Amino acid sequence: MAKIELSAIRKSFGDTEVLKGVDLSIHDGEFVSLVGPSGCGKSTLLRVIAGLEPQSSGEVKIGGVAVDHVRPSARNLAMVFQSYALYPHLSVFDNIAVPLRMKRLSALERAPLLGRLIPNRYRVERGIRADVERVASQLEISPLLTRKPGQLSGGQRQRVAVGRALVREPVGFLFDEPLSNLDAKLRVHMRAEIAQLHRRLKATFVYVTHDQAEAMTMSGRIAVMIGGELVQVGTPSDVYDNPRDIRVAEFIGSPK
Ligand code: ADP
Ligand code: MG
Repeated sequence: MAKIELSAIRKSFGDTEVLKGVDLSIHDGEFVSLVGPSGCGKSTLLRVIAGLEPQSSGEVKIGGVAVDHVRPSARNLAMVFQSYALYPHLSVFDNIAVPLRMKRLSALERAPLLGRLIPNRYRVERGIRADVERVASQLEISPLLTRKPGQLSGGQRQRVAVGRALVREPVGFLFDEPLSNLDAKLRVHMRAEIAQLHRRLKATFVYVTHDQAEAMTMSGRIAVMIGGELVQVGTPSDVYDNPRDIRVAEFIGSPK
């Protein structure tokens, strides 16, 4: 896993500046939540980190390396969105295997003719099986591998989505409000799941939410964004007990 460093990130859409010089250093294995009111620029910042949106200026480093010209897939960060986008007709096993099949079977297609022989394909499939089973056991979803997404609870579906990201061995996870479509009870349950996932994986997590309570319970540090600027970065108790200014106090103190 890797640290993620942002320096002086600015982003404009047309004449509107959405990110106004963001500096943030996220340590290897840290769980940082990015919170702030709707429209303040959280998703845009996450997309800049992922490489899905070019910044107007500033620099992103992952694992100490500037990645501004590195395409999204090569940055090797896993994005987890609120819609899990699992393939409904595929089993859990096949859903998790999708990225591995895309990568390894297409590499096999490109191999010299001799390399494409059946024993080789068999070896690739066996490797994929081993990797999917390892991830499933890590996430405690091994008994679900033969089910279809329609036969899973919301929480289980989310774990499958995380499994599909995890199988690619990402250097970090980016979450964009992954719980916002769930009902209140499940949301509270999933908070605990995600916190546990972080402890288990010891991975770098950047977690976007507009729900302060969610961020408070899960993260090591909270970055409060208002109007495209990080107004305060600190531990949950720092931010809660010593809000830097009235905007932070109002946001943290406001009912959801
Ligand atoms: P958040 O995730 O905090 O709710 P966003 O990052 O989605 O906020 O959006 C921040 C601002 O940037 C909003 O005003 C939004 O309308 C604008 N914005 C986001 N994406 C685009 C885009 N592709 N084109 C134009 N404006 C955009
Ligand atoms: Mg958003």
